[in-house]
This record gives sequence, structure tokens and C-alpha cells, in this order.
Amino acid sequence: MLTTAYIGIGANLGDARATVEYAIEKINHFPSTTMERASSLFVTAPIDSSGDDYINAVAQIQTSLDAESLLNHLQELELACGRERPYRNAPRTLDLDLLIFGGQEIATDRLTVPHPRMQERAFVLIPLLQLDPFITIPGKGAAHQFAPQVADQGIRQLSLNPA
Ligand code: ATP
Ligand code: MG
Ligand code: MG
Repeated sequence: MLTTAYIGIGANLGDARATVEYAIEKINHFPSTTMERASSLFVTAPIDSSGDDYINAVAQIQTSLDAESLLNHLQELELACGRERPYRNAPRTLDLDLLIFGGQEIATDRLTVPHPRMQERAFVLIPLLQLDPFITIPGKGAAHQFAPQVADQGIRQLSLNPA
């Protein structure tokens, strides 16, 4: 069975833009998975985190993996990109969060889906709404209703064709 899922991608260490682009390419090569669409890249100031600005994007995929297997692949890719977790919200080379997995609501030790903090974050909501302005977050409702609450968070779209 194919599931449509959304992955939040963020990086703020090293060449963050290159890492995000690399991650999008690699996700497209996960087994039984195709990249449907990736949002534009966005630049955001760190919120709970520290360090340089973040590059963020959201990817829409189709996969026949289950959510746990998808998380395994996401964490493997984080590690391959040099992710370390010295402390909570530390700067990171790559963060891959499973935002939405079909209509499923999941609560296990390893996985909470939809991602519990996604609707509080402009760097998730804005790219997600770019992909689908009418998307519903299972158990939470229309994503766009949360947009006003993140309006004060600085976020700008990277130009598509930088000079
Ligand atoms: P936040 O979750 O607030 O964005 P973070 O992304 O920095 O913080 P991580 O260090 O990447 O947090 O992940 C910590 C743990 O969160 C992981 O070990 C993973 O098992 C768990 N986790 C729970 N739900 C999810 C999810 N939906 N997507 C990714 N990881 C999740
Ligand atoms: Mg995260
Ligand atoms: Mg994470």
C-alpha cells in the first residue's frame, strides 16, 4: 500500500544548503519510495536552537515502507550526513522529521506522528502549505489555521536561481 508522507528537512551546520539538497536526492532513492515534490528552500533563524540560520524544506513522498522503517532510513541518512546529538536542540548538519504519514496517528517510544510541534513552526508550516495549501494534519485539522500563530517567526524563501 502506498502512503503519502511529508518529511521536514533542516540543517544549520556546514554547507546547509548543499546538505538539504543532498537529502532530497537521497530520500528519492530510499527503497520503495519516490519523491513526489519538494518545497522551495527557506532560510529561518534558529528558534529553540542556536548557531547559524537554518535551511529548511519539506518533501512530499510516496512510500510503501511503514512509518518505523521510514524513520530508520531517515535516521541513517542523518548519521551519514554527520548528525550528532551532543545536547537537545544543538546545531545539526541534518534533521529529518516525519511530519505526516498518511492519515495515521502514531504514538510509540520512537515515533509521534503527526510531529507534535509541527504546527508551531513556521519553518515546517510555510513549506508544507506551499506544497498543499489545503492539507490537513491528522488529528489537528487544516494546517493553514495555524499560520497566523507563526507569522512573527522570520522565514524567507531562497531565490530559485541564485546569481
Ligand atoms: P524536534 O522533534 O522538536 O524537532 P529534534 O528533531 O531535534 O527535535 P531529534 O534529536 O532529531 O529531535 O530526535 C529525537 C527523537 O525523536 C528521535 O530519536 C526519534 O525517535 C524521535 N521522534 C519521535 N517522533 C518523531 C518524528 N515524527 N520524526 C522524527 N523523529 C521522531
Ligand atoms: Mg526536528
Ligand atoms: Mg529530528
